Amino acid sequence: MSTFQAPKGTYDLLPPDSATYLAVREAISGPLKNSGYGYIETPGFENVELFARGVGESTDIVTKEMYAFETKGGDRLALRPEGTASVLRAALEANLHKGGNLPVKLWYSGSYYRYERPQKGRYRHFSQVGAEAIGTEDPALDAELIILADQAYRSLGLRNFRILLNSLGDKECRPVYRAALQDFLRGLDLDDDTRRRVDINPLRVLDDKREYVQKQLAGAPMLRDYLCEACKAYHEQVRELLTAAQVAFEDDEKLVRGLDYYTRTTFEFVHDGLGSQSAVGGGGRYDGLSEMIGGPALPSVGWALGVDRTVLALEAEGIALDIPAATSVYAVPLGDEARRVLFGAVTALRRAGVATDFAYGGKGLKNAMKSANRSGARLALVAGERDLAEGVVQLKDLTSGEQTPVALDAVVDEVRRALA
Ligand code: ATP
Ligand code: MG
Repeated sequence: MSTFQAPKGTYDLLPPDSATYLAVREAISGPLKNSGYGYIETPGFENVELFARGVGESTDIVTKEMYAFETKGGDRLALRPEGTASVLRAALEANLHKGGNLPVKLWYSGSYYRYERPQKGRYRHFSQVGAEAIGTEDPALDAELIILADQAYRSLGLRNFRILLNSLGDKECRPVYRAALQDFLRGLDLDDDTRRRVDINPLRVLDDKREYVQKQLAGAPMLRDYLCEACKAYHEQVRELLTAAQVAFEDDEKLVRGLDYYTRTTFEFVHDGLGSQSAVGGGGRYDGLSEMIGGPALPSVGWALGVDRTVLALEAEGIALDIPAATSVYAVPLGDEARRVLFGAVTALRRAGVATDFAYGGKGLKNAMKSANRSGARLALVAGERDLAEGVVQLKDLTSGEQTPVALDAVVDEVRRALA
């Protein structure tokens, strides 16, 4: 125990559990890598204004949850609270959208920071894997992303998740709906904060979880009744493509990601074993975002899946991922000469791609064999003076206990054969 502890709302990933986090990141990124998405990495902090504009001045993320600070040089920065704004900023800066090869498909994986009230599934430092498809309006692209997330969750063995789907309309029909909704909301009995939200971002009010707000929302105009023909047709195509791919979804007309540049398709992945932090991922179209941050019109769609909550979802479903032991072979030297010789064999095995570890610190046989068993290795290489005199090491199968002498210069081949 040191004098210090991990900051409030954060936790450390430690072995062996950390292997599950890596496996989840891999399971989510696998289908993306397999579908034309290239890896992008952006800085952990950005100009605070990028998030103010790119996430939205009226969102909780920007008003309450952002770690913003001024540097010694006087720059106003913020730790990134989400990935989309940074990825789009980077793509525009590098002109990835020019040259006619659209959409630009990118995936990312990293740490995100939000100053939230910590609780199970809600942390101040958390991890997401995300994907963005930039510059193309095509319902097949929206469907692709939803199908890939579904594939990722299923590959992990998850079953108790649901996909909620909605359309938010576009710049033709959304404003008409927005005005109608504002008219309705202004007639309700709401607190000052919520009334302000009615002015800036009325769709968000639909998402308000509080009972006294929800009760008054009965009879609110629904976006579905305001969608223009183009939006209706687009949404219908997304739904048909998902159905054809046998990806089940639920239409949820209350699902809003109520920023002005979020358009059309919006979706969320919820897991039923997670209590109130049930969203494991979410995303949608953001056709207006590029222009909001000074770029050209670039209709885009993306999602971000939470790694922490996906791990909790695995626990909730009682799923233990099949993670191979980190070490296949464990070398146990008895004496100084054996130490020198076996260390050489370990290096050769590692260079041959065999996961190998070594009993460091001059442990006795008993302790070293304990470490060998704890490492999960299938084989041990044991050598003492007598073995070396004969030019061999003992190859021990840790499951059966069977032991065979192996010529020193045949160790790599014999180990490979035994592991095959
Ligand atoms: P919530 O409604 O639970 O606050 P959100 O809408 O803020 O979620 P997004 O911004 O859509 O979440 O982020 C995508 C995913 O990232 C979420 O579905 C969730 O899995 C994860 N996530 C978001 N915030 C946190 C957090 N504070 N701690 C852990 N995971 C988080
Ligand atoms: Mg949130």
